[in-house]
Amino acid sequence: MALTYVDEIEVKDKNILCRFDFNVPLDSKDRSKITDTTRIDMALETIQYLLDNGAKKLILMSHLGRPKGKVNPDYTLEPVATYLAEKLNEDVILTESCLDRGIKTLLTLNESRIILLQNLRYHSEEEEGSAEFAKALAAYGDIYVNDAFGTAHRKHASTYTINAYFKNKAVGGFLLKKEIQALTKIVNSPKSPFVAIVGGAKVSDKIKIIERLIVNVDHLIIGGAMAYPFLVAQGHDVGNSLCSADDVKLAKKILMSPSKSKIVLPVDHIVSTEFGGAPKLCAKVEVDGDCMALDIGPKTIALFENKISNAKTVLWNGPMGLFENKDFANGTMAIATALSQLDDAFTLVGGGDSVSAVKISGLYDKMSHVSTGGGASLEFIEEGTLPGVQALRFGIDLN
Ligand code: AMP
Repeated sequence: MALTYVDEIEVKDKNILCRFDFNVPLDSKDRSKITDTTRIDMALETIQYLLDNGAKKLILMSHLGRPKGKVNPDYTLEPVATYLAEKLNEDVILTESCLDRGIKTLLTLNESRIILLQNLRYHSEEEEGSAEFAKALAAYGDIYVNDAFGTAHRKHASTYTINAYFKNKAVGGFLLKKEIQALTKIVNSPKSPFVAIVGGAKVSDKIKIIERLIVNVDHLIIGGAMAYPFLVAQGHDVGNSLCSADDVKLAKKILMSPSKSKIVLPVDHIVSTEFGGAPKLCAKVEVDGDCMALDIGPKTIALFENKISNAKTVLWNGPMGLFENKDFANGTMAIATALSQLDDAFTLVGGGDSVSAVKISGLYDKMSHVSTGGGASLEFIEEGTLPGVQALRFGIDLN
């Protein structure tokens, strides 16, 4: 059964209950300031479509941060409400709670068309996937729209359980559609040569995706702190570089795969004697005992660029070094540039840190798709779908 999207259902004069991922970063000192509005900006297309097509009321839902089931003003959706009102040029009413008695009254009033429910995670029932909580939320809408790709891997009340109350009235939004279409290309029909670039800090976080990808790709490039457990597993000394014994075990397992020849690892590094200290070139694989590798070196950049140069499909998740510090950002920026220069290739960037790296590089628009969901995009590639997407497609039965 194909997934139905918001433009395939009549929304005129209906109350539409919409789940978005407005989990945006806030300034640590001034909590009213959103430091990156991308996730809200990505939701605007669906919201505007619903407004333009005569929806009676929009009841918007999201979580923000991890307030752990308790009301916590540090995680109020107020900055989101203010930003939405500005962008849409419409009033946005923020409720006090998701179970506010006044919400039903608001639905009968003619005034504001947009109601934003306060942070879903102020209620512990949200993350527990509570049917009772989902039912209470469901009572606000005639139709349910899920456009929260970033949380579609969670079986939460507002992303999963709620589908039980919207039989044939649950649809996906435009952002969900774009994400699913882009990721499906990678899962089902990647054009060859297919190159995956995996970076970041922990092997254990990405072990499943590596095991899944190594079968289908032509080259599996491993950079960033991810690379050192692999180098140790091959018998190299990596000095003080980030590397846990558990990750070495996992790397050893992957290096026993029949496809191990597809793995491409760093051959030189940019090192320092302390975390974020003065950068120094280490022109060989082995890292001296008193140094830690914090970026890939120039020979490695050339090697990775060469593997990427004729790719037709590229998946990139995770930075090549401590890119937040510009002394160790060259490797990550070189990957962004290499991807941006490919002709006629499908390039997908996923995962929070590589997304911010692509933004810093100024090459965001040169990528075919930049996924808003880090964990969700990885899980989609591992599993071929997500619980929230399956529930939207097939519904769920609570009995
Ligand atoms: P992840 O969340 O696993 O994608 O990890 C991203 C983090 O890994 C970023 O904050 C990077 O600064 C960090 N990182 C990447 N490479 C290194 C490295 N060689 N040494 C220390 N941290 C690194």
